[in-house]
Amino acid sequence: MSRILAVGSVALDTVETPFGSVTDAPGGSATFFAAAAAHFTPVSIVGVVGSDYPDSALTFLSDHGVDLTGVEKAVGESFRWGGKYGFDLNTRETLFTKLGVFADFHPRIPDELREARWVFLGNINPELQLDVLEQVDEPEFVACDTMNYWIEGERETLMRLLGRVDFLIVNDEEARQLSGEPNLAKAATWIQRHGPDHVVIKKGEHGAVLFTADHVFFAPGYPLEEIVDPTGAGDAFAGGMIGHLARASSVHVAEMRRATVYGCAMGSFACEAFGPERFASLCERDIDERVRAFREMTAFEHEIPSAI
Ligand code: AMP
Repeated sequence: MSRILAVGSVALDTVETPFGSVTDAPGGSATFFAAAAAHFTPVSIVGVVGSDYPDSALTFLSDHGVDLTGVEKAVGESFRWGGKYGFDLNTRETLFTKLGVFADFHPRIPDELREARWVFLGNINPELQLDVLEQVDEPEFVACDTMNYWIEGERETLMRLLGRVDFLIVNDEEARQLSGEPNLAKAATWIQRHGPDHVVIKKGEHGAVLFTADHVFFAPGYPLEEIVDPTGAGDAFAGGMIGHLARASSVHVAEMRRATVYGCAMGSFACEAFGPERFASLCERDIDERVRAFREMTAFEHEIPSAI
């Protein structure tokens, strides 16, 4: 079992869905990632919060074993993000992004975490993601997330980062935008040519596709009957996936496939409540049951027609 060093936003989210709304709920890429990954393996996060960040949101993470020694408390306002979902929960509108203390954030990895072997670079400025990599001695496996904002605005830095990343996790729109390829299989090949051996393309409620050197694997989205808020599902997906790989200490293709299912399972739990709340009550049995459900949903007997 290996510790994961994760960097990302620690935010306060204001979210509106057709089923309710929430103001200043704990959120951010590092928060959702850690809340999910901590169910598999120890996690340390590096990030920044403002002086207005509620202690209860941080103790929620530390109570679940997340190491917060790398989370700085700076004078000023916390990073805030606002989003609104319509009836199609696969698309959302960003209402605001207020960087607050995040604007001047320079990640500093505490000395004791520089030996981390497993690194997750959550969705932040690729310049900061590179800065984190510079401070880690010899990372064995580096996974990375990004978004349209950085693909548009920081393409050159992002391309430099890609060359140092083992695994890129993006959604379908981001994969197309990054590669300029409308076809997702070609987009994944383009990404692999520019660095990462492994690519996952997330497709929201429709699951995720894994591309490794010579394998393609698909996991569906879990058919939830009630979705409260999809915010953070992508980061929880990454938490489930990397959490499983770090726990197994392996990126063998069989583990990558299994990890994709753990990713989809953890992403589905994120949708069951506002903020990362669902991860507080989640137990190993819940995760195991959901993963079994994926197996039942996808396994089938291949019968060869007698005429062949
Ligand atoms: P997801 O739904 O997995 O894409 O993640 C949503 C989370 O990402 C929210 O909790 C936001 O606080 C956070 N977020 C949104 N925009 C940004 C950004 N530009 N940089 C860092 N984090 C962000």
